[in-house]
Amino acid sequence: MKINELTKAKSSPGPTDWFTGNTWMEHLGTLSTPAPTKVIRVTFAPGARTAWHSHPQGQVLHILGGVARIGREGEPVREAHAGDTVEILPGERHWHGAAPELVMVHLAVYAEDADAGLATVWEEQVGQRDYEALAGA
Ligand code: MN
Repeated sequence: MKINELTKAKSSPGPTDWFTGNTWMEHLGTLSTPAPTKVIRVTFAPGARTAWHSHPQGQVLHILGGVARIGREGEPVREAHAGDTVEILPGERHWHGAAPELVMVHLAVYAEDADAGLATVWEEQVGQRDYEALAGA
């Protein structure tokens, strides 16, 4: 185990093109085989969320703290809690973020596309109406 690699993580603000609200990202590591696979911790301020996007190889999200909101194309928004794990299918259009009143922290694990070297395809920001379209609301 290379402990130095693990202690190098530095917090960087999430790029405003990709997020609404304040977010902080720490790149924890990249697994090199068979395609580079990223492990990132993301902290979302209350109400902050990603833009709509997809991952060519899918993604696993593990909620570490707070309450998450997960939006998938054509489905009502779902909430997930600390300890929950959410699987996003390859190419599935979605977004993730924090509930309106709590900071949310999740791990995100996702691989680059073997051909294009692309891990995320970013689209437009998530509007308030989509953000509030909770299941059962
Ligand atoms: Mn995602």
